[in-house]
Amino acid sequence: MLRFAPSPTHDMHIGELRVAMFNYIVAKQKGISFIVRIEDTEKERFIEGKDTEILQILEKFALPHDSVSHQSENLHIHQTLAIRLLEEKKAFVCTCTPEQIESEKKGLNHCYSGRCTDVGAQELIKIKKDKIPFVIRVKKPEDDIVTHDLIQGEIHTTPDKVDAFVILKSDGTPSYDFSCACDDMISGITLIVRGENYLSNTPKQKYIQQLLGYKEETSYAHLPNLLNDKGKKMQAKDNAGTVKWLFEQGFIPNAIANYLILLGNNTPTEIFTMPEALEWFTLDNISNSAVPFDMEKLRFINKAHIKMMDDKELSTVFGFADADIGKLVKLYLEEACTLNELESKIRPFFTPKDFNGEWGEQMRMIEKLIWELPMIDSFKLFESTIKKESALEGEHFTKPLRLLLTGTESGPELSDIYPLIKPYLLEVAS
Ligand code: GLU
Repeated sequence: MLRFAPSPTHDMHIGELRVAMFNYIVAKQKGISFIVRIEDTEKERFIEGKDTEILQILEKFALPHDSVSHQSENLHIHQTLAIRLLEEKKAFVCTCTPEQIESEKKGLNHCYSGRCTDVGAQELIKIKKDKIPFVIRVKKPEDDIVTHDLIQGEIHTTPDKVDAFVILKSDGTPSYDFSCACDDMISGITLIVRGENYLSNTPKQKYIQQLLGYKEETSYAHLPNLLNDKGKKMQAKDNAGTVKWLFEQGFIPNAIANYLILLGNNTPTEIFTMPEALEWFTLDNISNSAVPFDMEKLRFINKAHIKMMDDKELSTVFGFADADIGKLVKLYLEEACTLNELESKIRPFFTPKDFNGEWGEQMRMIEKLIWELPMIDSFKLFESTIKKESALEGEHFTKPLRLLLTGTESGPELSDIYPLIKPYLLEVAS
């Protein structure tokens, strides 16, 4: 079983979407379950509605999952397991104050190996009665923890690096590492694909599962970071840092998915669909070094996927249900890459024209003729008829005609545009 475990504390990062997609793809290829676990344990960081937003994004990207759960539903299990570790003397109660912990870090007073480590379940009753704040920590491991990562290779972590860490916080809620390790164990997650920023959590989570007596082998794949244009790890505040930003700019799901699969990967083609990627995707081809996010490449891919869209479906984005409008939109892919840029090309067609400009008078003449003449099928005949009837010549004819039909001074050939807007001619030319 694979899982995507987002925290509902922020807009989904593109790195997180990449994680969700890779989990989905591998699960689908293996024919095993893919679940979503909303990690909402830290109540104070939870933002109302973000869980729904995450699920909506997964739907937009067509990443179906077998179930959705909220981590907070398992709170009592986390607490029970923490107490079990305490009773088995694999964990201890720590009543150190933040100041003591600080001095400990400086090596002045190492409570992990001394003062608190013997404080167990028995003493907890009195500590609770005396209302002394406490946390529960696991004892520092004795041996190295070894992680086999499909992308990063074999990683040895020394006991000092893992140390005696908190599993249950002073408010009684589990730490991220503890709840995550327990839930992965309970669900029987066999492969964890996530960002490399969790690489330092993995030994802790493996150690927790060892302490709990979990015997199954879990595989890991930590995906290298995406870098912004300054070569730093991409963050939500970067352009393109969140899925929401990409949607707001007019990038479409198929193109975003294509680009995120392509990044740092070795793929048979540059442009592909999810069903195609399902045929050949393998984590083995993912590079183990950080990869720069290239906006120009995403723009190019967006253009390619808009071109591949069904014409009628494309037109619905612009408020129509007409394949010809989809074709009209595609004519503008020569000069635009996103839905927003395309919208700015199509909107002027259907916006009342400005007759007060330089060519206003000629536009009025042409408008009048269009209203008077019967509908003409061929552009050639339409053009020659209007030209003859208006007696306009050269740019005195071409400029106002284009302005009247398209609302802008330049663009694709009118002979390509005309057949597509013919049914709307009276609306357009006014
Ligand atoms: N809740 C963590 C996140 O949002 C999950 C990390 C993990 O996959 O374990 O990234």
